[in-house]
Amino acid sequence: MDDSRFGKENSRGFWEPAKPITYGPVFNWPPNPGALVKWLFGFPGYFLPWNIFYAIVAILIWKFLTPPLESFQTFSFYWASVILLRNIILAILVYGAWHMWLYVWRKQGTTFKYNRQWPKEKSEIFLFNNQTYDNMFYTLVSGVPIWTAYELLLLWAYANNIAPMISFDEHPVGFIAVFFLVPFIHEVGFYFAHRLLHVPALYKVAHKLHHRNVNPGPWSGLSMHPIEHLIYFSTILLFFFIPSHPIHMINLASRLGVAPAQGHTGFDRMVVGHEATMDVSYYAHYLHHKYFEVNYSDGMVPLDKWFGSFHDGTPEADEAMKARRLRRGI
Ligand SMILES: [Zn+2]
Ligand SMILES: [Zn+2]
Repeated sequence: MDDSRFGKENSRGFWEPAKPITYGPVFNWPPNPGALVKWLFGFPGYFLPWNIFYAIVAILIWKFLTPPLESFQTFSFYWASVILLRNIILAILVYGAWHMWLYVWRKQGTTFKYNRQWPKEKSEIFLFNNQTYDNMFYTLVSGVPIWTAYELLLLWAYANNIAPMISFDEHPVGFIAVFFLVPFIHEVGFYFAHRLLHVPALYKVAHKLHHRNVNPGPWSGLSMHPIEHLIYFSTILLFFFIPSHPIHMINLASRLGVAPAQGHTGFDRMVVGHEATMDVSYYAHYLHHKYFEVNYSDGMVPLDKWFGSFHDGTPEADEAMKARRLRRGI
């Protein structure tokens, strides 16, 4: 498979996609209904593959891997342990699958890898002198337990009628509408949490840890300081205000929990057959790891464009970024 059809390697050994990063047409003005329909139902598009995938995962988790809601009316150490174990297994399966495929078995070598170098085997800036072990440690010892704690809090709140709950039978339209909303809640929540984490004081004590991953891999995704985990997963608390069903909350919580694996693969496309590839790109976030103060979010809502931190991967965006830095004296 030749990746030069989709981009090119620059003189410093970085592969760059030919197409600049663009947002979906949801916020385009004037509206373009044709483009919107194409974006909604295309492949890749709003539904396929990833949003549908995460919605199905949430339904399966709720149906088969979550005890009845009444179990959460009072705190039970047993049920808390079950949910924790379920999330640990989910994380190991998802992060592990991406990592094994792309970084251990190296199924496609460095084809479509943004940074042609593999992460160093040994590095003293990481725990155990190893980037992957360090990332696994923060993911499994801090990330998953904090994700689980927020999830348990919301399950308790639904079970006690503290969080506003709707059912499909009573509110089918609202029920489906909240499913549509979850990817937006995810993205907007992530943007503001991430901006907050770049405030110098918080960056220094918390977010710096995540940014040690300048050449990231899947396990870099949830490798964060516990303070960052507390802020990052706090988007789940919005379900104290949004009428929803536990499936919606689980959809958001599991996305926050496992989607960062894909967000940090460091690859633009996955080779899935002799000539076939699949878009797995999170180039915007890759550029964030490379340049720090660009692209705090990625995807559908042009927040970085509105707030002046967008980098679409082109040389012009490089120039604009340098000019911004000069103005700010850095
Ligand atoms: Zn990151
Ligand atoms: Zn950051």
